[in-house]
Amino acid sequence: MCWIFAYNGQENPLPLLIEWLRNLEYRGYDSAGVFAVAADGHFFLEKAVGKVSALATKVEKNEAKNDAYITGIAHTRWATHGGVTEANSHPHKSSQDRFFVVHNGIIENYRELKDTLQKKGYVFYSETDTEVVAKLIEDMYDGDILSTFERVLAHLVGAYALAVVDREHPDTLIGAKLGSPMIVGLSPTGTFLSSDINAVSRVATEFVMLDDREIIRIEGGKYAIFSLGQEVEKNREKITDEFQTATIGNYETFTEKEIYEIPDVFKNALKWRVNFETGEIRSDTLDALGDHEIDRIEIVASGSSYFAWIVGSYWFRELAGIPCEVRISSEFLYDTFIPSNRTLYVFMSQSGETADVRESLRMVKKKWCLTFGIVNVVGSTIARMTDMWLYTHAGVEVGVASTKNIIAQLAVLITMALSLGLKRNLQVKDAREIVRHLAELPAKFELELAGARTLNPLIEKYSQYENFFYLGRNLLYGTAHECSLKLKELTYLHAECYSAGELKHGPLALVNPDMPTIVLNLKGIMRDKTASNIKEVKARNGIVLGVVTEGDDMDDLYDDRIEVPTTHPLLTPFLPLIPMWLFAVGIAKKLGKDVDKPQNLAKSVTVE
Ligand code: GLU
Repeated sequence: MCWIFAYNGQENPLPLLIEWLRNLEYRGYDSAGVFAVAADGHFFLEKAVGKVSALATKVEKNEAKNDAYITGIAHTRWATHGGVTEANSHPHKSSQDRFFVVHNGIIENYRELKDTLQKKGYVFYSETDTEVVAKLIEDMYDGDILSTFERVLAHLVGAYALAVVDREHPDTLIGAKLGSPMIVGLSPTGTFLSSDINAVSRVATEFVMLDDREIIRIEGGKYAIFSLGQEVEKNREKITDEFQTATIGNYETFTEKEIYEIPDVFKNALKWRVNFETGEIRSDTLDALGDHEIDRIEIVASGSSYFAWIVGSYWFRELAGIPCEVRISSEFLYDTFIPSNRTLYVFMSQSGETADVRESLRMVKKKWCLTFGIVNVVGSTIARMTDMWLYTHAGVEVGVASTKNIIAQLAVLITMALSLGLKRNLQVKDAREIVRHLAELPAKFELELAGARTLNPLIEKYSQYENFFYLGRNLLYGTAHECSLKLKELTYLHAECYSAGELKHGPLALVNPDMPTIVLNLKGIMRDKTASNIKEVKARNGIVLGVVTEGDDMDDLYDDRIEVPTTHPLLTPFLPLIPMWLFAVGIAKKLGKDVDKPQNLAKSVTVE
């Protein structure tokens, strides 16, 4: 998504902003821009469509980059209003090049604001909602940027993180947020504004979380935060190792590196919550959750998190005996909400900022229902808004298509299901048996990673096709969906996923030798029923790649096989992921796609 970064202080902001832009190379966005202003008001502005490297090249060539600036703002854009053009990319400005603005989010009432401003004679050069903010500041300016900005914000409907510079007061930077994230980074030399804590973690030592409707003013590197016109004191927190920055190491892509981190990520997600010696679950949060009288769970998520939850919902029913419904956040948000005080509402998002999920949470909170968050990014909005939460502790995930975080999410979900189960009817010995198998999973992931080369002939063969079916049943249904989504995201090839049992009710019409079927068919999860479904495909000359349990020979069924290690039946959803993700990465590389930054996608979807 679009990201904001801004700085005011003793250092020259331009090199900091450019380094930040380079660090964000990997993010999903479609254009970028940077602005810096000197003490005498002269300014530097460059914008470029495409990768930030295109912008960095432009900046490098611009001799003015060496001037001494004191305040700067930078932005990567993921277009919502207006095409991907240089004119539409941020920063946006007022008429006489006075006020410069970067914005993340959507100004929903921009059309009427723009009409009013146009009637007053303002001329717009872009199609964006953001330019309206710059012109509105100009129109409402009362001699003081803070009070002007406060009055401007009162006119805006929608979601935003905004950073503003007035060229007449170059040593001042103003920011505010509503819905979208904004973090204040503090370094000994100055103050930063950023959409993402990880982006400031290498330059700042402490941070402050800005809350909705607060305004920050930074002057001479020092900040003050205001709420309803009054200055407020906010907690400063230390930047710890949790906010690491990621380096690519010896890998060709971050996504591959992150897949190879999975054994450690899995251990890390469970380390504080599962005692592998005794087989016990130990988590204060889960203990506290177990004290609530819950007879239903409703889960709100999107993308890969949604599919992880489809798997998780089976665990909650099976292990805890709790009815569990999974909802796509963008649908849940606009459906009739029927609140229940015996339902636990769970919100899961890697970034903790996903707008559809966050807004759904806001809707549920208004009805005073019990909310639970599962997020990766520490201190993110969803973590701060929910009554209880757990972190997935997957570390920084750079690849836009999530991998290691899904494994960490699944680890949290099984722990949660075990914990709630133990408070109900789950037998201690059954839970210990599952924990024993959980302890063995990292070694099994290592085995899968060590066998990555065996996928090469399959990558070679299947990269010739353009359409794929993915099938799975029961606990493997959510995993099959995730594998199918990953192929789409990374290769841009067409993939459809169904429950294998559903095929005969329609999709079977598509089966032909040009559309291979990838079926997850592991022992312990409806293997024989799924085998019958595969026979329906084979009978229609379909090509079948089976993801099967090691040593499970049903050779007449599959044209090709990928074997995965055995485990407890309930843990089978973990095992197809690594080979299937590596398979998708392999095809994407073979087709020359950008594995870390798939076209049209963004890492953290902070607009609805
Ligand atoms: N709505 C703004 C635009 O289209 C900002 C989009 C974003 O968050 O990147 O320019």
